[in-house]
Amino acid sequence: MSFKTLDDIGDVTGKAVLVREDLNVPMADGRVTDDTRLRATVATLTELADKGAKVLVLAHFGRPKGQPSEEFSLKKLADPLAHVLGRPVSYIDWEGDKAAVAALAPGSIAVLENTRFFGGEEKNDPAVIERFASLGDFYVNDAFSAAHRAHASTEGLARVLPAFAGRAMEAELKALEKALGAPERPVAAVVGGAKVSTKLDVLKHLVSKVDHLIIGGGMANTFLAARGVDVGKSLCEHDLKATAEEILDNADKAGCTVHLPYDVVVSKEFAANPPSLRTCNVHEVAADEMILDVGPQAVEALGDVLKTCRTLVWNGPMGAFEMEPFDAATVALARTAAALSKEGSLISVAGGGDTVAALNHAGVAGDFSYISTAGGAFLEWMEGKELPGVAALG
Ligand code: ADP
Ligand code: MG
Repeated sequence: MSFKTLDDIGDVTGKAVLVREDLNVPMADGRVTDDTRLRATVATLTELADKGAKVLVLAHFGRPKGQPSEEFSLKKLADPLAHVLGRPVSYIDWEGDKAAVAALAPGSIAVLENTRFFGGEEKNDPAVIERFASLGDFYVNDAFSAAHRAHASTEGLARVLPAFAGRAMEAELKALEKALGAPERPVAAVVGGAKVSTKLDVLKHLVSKVDHLIIGGGMANTFLAARGVDVGKSLCEHDLKATAEEILDNADKAGCTVHLPYDVVVSKEFAANPPSLRTCNVHEVAADEMILDVGPQAVEALGDVLKTCRTLVWNGPMGAFEMEPFDAATVALARTAAALSKEGSLISVAGGGDTVAALNHAGVAGDFSYISTAGGAFLEWMEGKELPGVAALG
């Protein structure tokens, strides 16, 4: 994987640089409720502005499906972005954009209107690519989270303008390369979450890549069922038992050790601190019980596995972590991984919406080597897919 970075961009003084960012932030009552994505833009936008470029931020917001509207306008993000950047940010709409860009002072930053106000954006339409390209001299892609889509602003532009990875994109690609591209071995993967069906391709890809595959969460139940365990009322995709078996066989052939829980935390109701809570061996789950977390003995053994590893990729919580005490396995294993990362013996990369929430809940997100907030793009990367927005930078 080779790509150019801002180190290669050369003199940008007075040049217009189109920078694809992810400004798709959650909002409530006109306020940004989580500015993580805005903070991720700071390194690239300030570096280019400081180099004297006219910085033009390209991004989508929501799903306007080619229809301009107030609701999906990026105008409302100019001020929050300015606040995060600590410098002024202007807004440019799709009428009169050419003149507005020409009038910008070198070193200034402007947000262009929602790229998805053009229906051709999501179709990677050459006319839309040209429309965007006519505004800039260079293209910088800083939005890994949008790189799994071949859209005009994420892929098309990279083919018509000199293209570079922004600093956030660069950091993400380097971290992912270290985790699965050319990792230090042994490598462990933790895959959890609710269902096998949403992560089949992830599991299939990982068995050929990692030395230890740790399966937790609801999806472990399907694997346990495939091995003949009666999982009672647990969330379980019985129709995928054959697929689970196939994955276990492939792991065997590839020399990948699969770790399934042997003790579990169960209850009769899906609720926090239920009266029927108990811990038992996987073979002792009653017909009216459901497995909601990995048990403490298994967690301890998994911690010992991590101690023998140099690299860890993690997607998906080990249990129904939103309800106590079913967060215990996720929290304990996350703390072990964090401690190993902190002492320098483990490179740890984690991603996924609920995974990031769970690691924050465990208070250890900051100790992981890298946390990806990319969601869909992170999962496609875990599936071993080539992301079009990344490929176009090569
Ligand atoms: P991510 O967003 O990190 O990719 P997922 O969306 O795949 O993760 O999975 C997270 C969900 O899985 C959580 O809502 C969690 O409650 C659920 N989950 C984990 N273990 C279980 C279980 N044993 N039974 C039911 N749901 C579970
Ligand atoms: Mg999720």
